[in-house]
Amino acid sequence: MSEMKIPYKIYLSEDEMPKAWYNLRADMKNKPAPLLNPGTLQPMTREELDGVFCDELVKQELDDTTPYFEIPQEIRDFYKMYRPSPLVRAYCLEAALGTPAKIYYKFEGNNTSGSHKLNSAIAQAYYAKNQGLKGVTTETGAGQWGTALSMACGYLGLDCKVYMVKCSYEQKPFRREVMRVYGASVTPSPSPTTAVGRKILEKDPNTTGSLGCAISEAVEVATSTPGYRYVLGSVLNQVLLHQSIIGLESKIAMDKYGVKPDIIIGCAGGGSNLGGLIAPFMGEKLRGEADYRIIAVEPASCPSFTRGKFAYDFCDTGMVCPLAKMYTLGSGFIPSANHAGGLRYHGMSSTLSQLYHDGLMEATSVKQTDVFEAAERFARVEGILPAPESSHAIKVAIDEALKCKETGEEKTILFGLTGTGYFDLYAYEAFHDGKMSDYIPTDEEIARSLGQLPQVD
Ligand SMILES: *Cc1c(COP(=O)(O)O)cnc(C)c1O
Repeated sequence: MSEMKIPYKIYLSEDEMPKAWYNLRADMKNKPAPLLNPGTLQPMTREELDGVFCDELVKQELDDTTPYFEIPQEIRDFYKMYRPSPLVRAYCLEAALGTPAKIYYKFEGNNTSGSHKLNSAIAQAYYAKNQGLKGVTTETGAGQWGTALSMACGYLGLDCKVYMVKCSYEQKPFRREVMRVYGASVTPSPSPTTAVGRKILEKDPNTTGSLGCAISEAVEVATSTPGYRYVLGSVLNQVLLHQSIIGLESKIAMDKYGVKPDIIIGCAGGGSNLGGLIAPFMGEKLRGEADYRIIAVEPASCPSFTRGKFAYDFCDTGMVCPLAKMYTLGSGFIPSANHAGGLRYHGMSSTLSQLYHDGLMEATSVKQTDVFEAAERFARVEGILPAPESSHAIKVAIDEALKCKETGEEKTILFGLTGTGYFDLYAYEAFHDGKMSDYIPTDEEIARSLGQLPQVD
C-alpha cells in the first residue's frame, strides 16, 4: 500500500479549526476529586469559588459531565491571529537519528508569549471582561504565563497585576519588560505589598520565592480588591479544557492523513499542555475506541508524578487556596534552581493525577543536562530553539525514536513542543559552559516536605 506523502507541516484552514473545547472529564469513569475548602474540608461550592474566579470559569471548573464547550466567537477570532499552530513532521530529526519511527510535534511557540499559555489566557481574560470586571491578578514563574495573560488583557483592555517569582524577576528582565509592553504591572514575589508576602519574608528574608508563594499573593490581592478576580495558568480543570485546542487541532490534522500516533509525549509542570494535547486521544482511550501510550515527562529536580504522593494538598505555599487531590511533593517543596521554570510546581493537575493513578498514562523524569543535550540536537536539525520545558518532551521523544531504531519498529510518535527558548539563553549558556547542575532531591527532602501534607482522609 503506498503511503500518502505527508507534508513537513500540516496546517488547518480556518474552517477546519475546532469550534468547541473538549472536556476530558466527561469521559472519565473515575472523576478527579473535588477541590476542598481548606477550613471545612468540604467540597468548594460554586459560591465560594465565585469570590476567587470568574463565574463562567467556575462553571467550567466544576463541570465533570458536559463533553463540549463552545468556544465564543471572540476567542475564536483571537485564536486566528496565531492558530492553527503547525503540526510538524520531523523528517529532519528522523533522518539525523536514523530511526524508522515517524515523529510529529505540535508547535505552540508561534506567538509573542512563546508558549501554549495564550490559549487559556485569552479565554480567562475574555470571561473576566464579559463579567464586567476591572482586572485580574496572577502569578508567573518563568514568565510565559504572565506574558500570555498580559497580551490577552492588553487586547481586551483589562488591568493585569502579575506576581513574578523573585528569582525569575531578577534573572529574566526581558520577560518583565514584554509584560509591561502589554500594560501589566509586575511585582517580584514574595513582596511586602501583601500580608502573606510579608509573613513569608519575615520567616525567610532571603527567599528567592516560589510559584506557591506568588499564587498566595495574587489570590490575596484578587479577593481583597473589588472588581478583580484571580486567574491561573495551569493545573486547574478549566485550563486543561482551554488547552484541549492543542490536541483537537492535532487530531484533525492527523486524521486528514490517516495517521494515528502510537506514543504521545508531553512535558508536565502543572499538566495543562499535556492535558490539552492528549485530550481527544485520551477520550478515545477512555471510551474504548483506541489505545495510545501516553508519557508525561517531568524534571528529576521536581518529580511530582514519579516521586510524589497522591493526596490532598494546598495549591500554594501560603495555604490560602483550596486543597486539590493530586500527585504532590508538598506545598512547601522548593525545587532546586532548575532552568525549566515552568516545570517547578510542587503539584499536578487533578485530572491528570487521576488518570495516572488509574494506570491510563505513564510518567518519567529526566535530568537537566540530558534535556539540554536533546534540545540542542533538535535545534540543529529542526531549526526551532526550544524552551527548556518543551525539551523534556524532546528528550523522551528522541529516546523512544532510538528504541525504534534498535527494534526496527516504525512507531508513530507525537510530542508537544510547547514553546521557544529565546528568554532562556542564560540556561543555554550555563549548559555550554559546563556550569549546569543536575540536583536531584533526596528521599529525606521529599519525605520532609510530604510530612507537612494537610490531614484529610
Ligand atoms: C508553562 C509551560 C510549561 C508547563 O506547564 P504545563 O501546565 O504543564 O503545560 C511547559 N512549556 C512551556 C513553554 C511553558 O511555558
